[in-house]
Order: sequence, then C-alpha cells, then structure tokens
Amino acid sequence: MKTIMVIGAGQMGGGIAQVAAQAGYSVILNDIKDEFVMRGLGIIQKNLNRSVEKGKLSAEDQEATLARITKSTSLQDAVAADLVIEAAVENMAIKAQVFSQLDVICPEHTILSTNTSSLPITEIAAFTKRPDRVIGMHFMNPVPVMKLVEVIRGLATSDEVYKTIETLSQTMGKTPVEVNDAPGFVANRVLIPMINEAVYTFYEGIATVEAIDNVMKLGTNQPMGPLALADLIGLDTVLSIMEVLHEGLGDKYRPCPLLRKYVKAGWLGRKSGRGFHNYGA
Ligand code: NAD
Repeated sequence: MKTIMVIGAGQMGGGIAQVAAQAGYSVILNDIKDEFVMRGLGIIQKNLNRSVEKGKLSAEDQEATLARITKSTSLQDAVAADLVIEAAVENMAIKAQVFSQLDVICPEHTILSTNTSSLPITEIAAFTKRPDRVIGMHFMNPVPVMKLVEVIRGLATSDEVYKTIETLSQTMGKTPVEVNDAPGFVANRVLIPMINEAVYTFYEGIATVEAIDNVMKLGTNQPMGPLALADLIGLDTVLSIMEVLHEGLGDKYRPCPLLRKYVKAGWLGRKSGRGFHNYGA
C-alpha cells in the first residue's frame, strides 16, 4: 500500500489527504475542478502551518508532507492508486457513477473505500465488479483531530480487505472500530437524530439557538452544542443522513422541516457562512 487517491477535496477529503500524507503515503487529491483541489490544499497548508507554529511538526516534515500530495481533476489518475478513499458529496447517484468508473480504471488489486456517512456499502459495492474489495471507512470531522474510523464491511467484503484497512487506519494514527452495514452505521444513527431533535426544539420555539447549544454543552458535557455541530458537519450532509435513516428505519427519523428549509435556502453551515449560527463572509 503506497499510493492513496482521495476523491473530493472538501472538508473530509482534505483532512483525509492530510492525515494520509502525514503517515507517509503518496496521495492523489482529486476533485471536479482545479479550484476545489486548490482550496483543499490551502486548508491542508493552513493546518500544517498551525502545527509548525505550535511546535508539533517540523518545517521539514511539513514540506515533505505537502510534497507527497499531488493534484488531480481526472478520475483516470486512479490507475496509480492502491487504495481509493471516496469523499465526494453524500449522494448515491454521484457515488454510483464514481465507483463504476473507478472499477474500470483501477488495477485489480486496488481497494475502493467510501467515507459515506450513511449510504449502504453493499449497494455502493454492487456498482463494481469487485464487491469483495469495497469497504466503508467512515472518518470523523475534523479528520486530523478525531481518532475514530468506523470500518464497515459490505456483504461481500473479504477478510483480507478488512484486515488491510484496519491496519492502514492504525498507521494513519486512527482507531478503527468494526460496525455492520446499516443505515447511519453507529455514530450517525445516534448523533444525527439528536441534532434533528435540537432543530425541532428550535423550530417549535422552545429555546433560542444559543440556549439549545448552551444547555447541551453545559448539561451533557459535549464540547460543542448540537446546532453548532450541525453547522460544522454541513446542513446538507445532516439532511442527507436523516433522509437515509428515515427511509431505512421509519417515521421516527423524519427530518425537521426547518432543516429542509435551511438547506433549500443555501444555509449550509460554516461552509456557506450561515447555518444556525452566522459565520460572516
Ligand atoms: P464537502 O461538500 O465539503 O466536499 C465534497 C467535495 O466533493 C466538494 O469539493 C465537491 O466538489 C466534490 N465532488 C463532488 N462530486 C465529485 C466527483 N464526482 N468527483 C470528485 N469530487 C467531487 O463535503 P464533506 O463534508 O467533505 O463530505 C464528503 C463525504 O464525507 C460525504 O459522503 C459525507 O457524508 C461524508 N462525511 C462527512 C462528514 C462531515 O462531518 N461533513 C463526516 C463524515 C463523513
């Protein structure tokens, strides 16, 4: 395992590329437009600068890490990858297209993984002719900080692929935990309905955004309130996950209408400057 291609240079893809490059892998960072790859690289550079300023990373290691990342706007570059980690938007049609193309482009040995928050690994694997080499690697946000990777086997994922990904996650400084392929896996099955309930609490006028976040921070010892966390995750991603839970598990998981309204308005949280909180330009 030498070369990892990361698809999608957004908040998750950028973080995954950074951690993989810091662990010594050659990384190909791919997105649909060069400006998106550049934005992802800019964030990686800023993160590494901060680590250098704090004395956690040497300037030489920073330079070596950045030198291990190459830019890509063509899926064809996956021909050089031993592992692909897909972190494009949470949309099955897009993931289907990406995985069926990757299956044709990549060599036989290449493992195809997805960072999906909620979509079924078995269904994504079925878009390829190598379902035994498809697996879920669900990193947490922000990737350089959070230790967990949920590792999710599809129905056909081989033991060899599972072991390889378990070891690779550890090499990347993460703690892999095996979970089954079910809507939302574990982290989001528990977390996202709590966020949705916080949105309902605001929608029903029970408390202000600040009050809800304060109650949950101070009352349940969470480092940030659920609405601030929703803004960090991205409200579009929160809604997509809620929809998967709703479809797979029933009416108890109905997304709050206010969440839908915010997403329709383009209020996606930090990445768009406004969500439940206001982040300015
Ligand atoms: P994001 O919107 O920040 O980034 C997505 C990136 O994918 C964008 O830069 C977009 O241009 C790119 N993209 C879209 N289609 C593409 C394609 N066909 N090929 C290459 N790139 C493409 O989203 P994100 O928050 O980084 O989420 C990415 C994935 O990670 C989603 O599946 C999401 O569910 C999952 N995830 C998100 C979080 C979170 O907290 N945001 C946590 C864990 C997992």
